[in-house]
Amino acid sequence: MITCCDLAPPHVRAIAPYQPGKPISELARELGLAEADIVKLASNENPLGPSPLALAAAQDALHDLALYPDGAGFALKAKLSEKFGVAANQIVLSNGSNDVLDMAARAFLSPGTSSVHSEHAFAVYPIATQTVGAQSIVVPARDYGHDLAAMRAAIRDDTRVLWIANPNNPTGTFLPWAEIEAFLETVPPHVLVVLDEAYGEYLPPAERCDTAVWLTRFPNLLISRTFSKAYGLAGLRVGYGLGHPEVIDLLNRVRHPFNVNLPALAAAEAALDDAEFLARSYALNAAGMAQLVAGLAELGIETVPSKGNFLLAKVGDAARINTELLKRGVIVRPVANYGLPEFLRVSVGLAGQNARFLGALKACL
Ligand SMILES: *Cc1c(COP(=O)(O)O)cnc(C)c1O
Repeated sequence: MITCCDLAPPHVRAIAPYQPGKPISELARELGLAEADIVKLASNENPLGPSPLALAAAQDALHDLALYPDGAGFALKAKLSEKFGVAANQIVLSNGSNDVLDMAARAFLSPGTSSVHSEHAFAVYPIATQTVGAQSIVVPARDYGHDLAAMRAAIRDDTRVLWIANPNNPTGTFLPWAEIEAFLETVPPHVLVVLDEAYGEYLPPAERCDTAVWLTRFPNLLISRTFSKAYGLAGLRVGYGLGHPEVIDLLNRVRHPFNVNLPALAAAEAALDDAEFLARSYALNAAGMAQLVAGLAELGIETVPSKGNFLLAKVGDAARINTELLKRGVIVRPVANYGLPEFLRVSVGLAGQNARFLGALKACL
């Protein structure tokens, strides 16, 4: 008997599903531990929690849960429009920025086309590509990061999308913006460049760049950003894309109606006003990063320099160390599925959480 599952397209059956960080509740069940005794540094979440202004706005919005959200996201777009100096028709709102990536794949890719991404890049790029039956072209990394010259050379006539994360996850590698800008000059107009800036808010001020100003020069650029990381709203699922009106129009055609929920819209709007929280998140991350880098160096563990809110640590037998850390109630992220079997990725937490990770790691080395 042939079933519907047997007949699912081969490109769907071949997808390696996204592997999220292990939830605290799951490890608590497995170990019989209290959730409060578990430290999760596995999903690059903000250890400060959500922005207080965003939390209050989301709570207020709960009274209106019987209503559909504003499907056009007028108020949030107005704020983003002012922040980035772009028109409202250059903004698409999304259910987390993963949704921008997925919309880009569904709007621009199809069977017989390809997308280009770097080795050790974000897992959603190949998933989004394969979902629509297109082919992923994987370009070998240089020093764990993107090799832009090789990525340029990998572009084919059938290439429609090229993915860049800066900083990149899971490696934390960062390319100076001038290199990306020079790269954009060389990309042919038939290729949409998706510039994923999920960790942009964690860059030191001197290394930040207002890439939205490039949109007038590069109509084939799509910038994706999120409220999941520095704004602390990962659980609400809200992000956005900035691009040329024609690009955004195409994304809106494949966008699910009401893709950003009502409390998420309210929280995101309020979060944009919470400069104090953003500054606090940045400062905590910088201090925690220094703590982790120093602590790992003390243990003789190599790290890859990171500009994100996470760090790759070369622990050797990462599968074994990960199991040992879990037994000690510490959840980090194994990255063998990213071609990095000797590494664990650890998110920057509160000082006490970072210390707990370093202590547990020392005990299991
Ligand atoms: C975390 C992350 C995102 C953001 O995901 P959301 O869907 O916005 O939660 C996007 N790109 C990269 C590279 C990430 O690491």
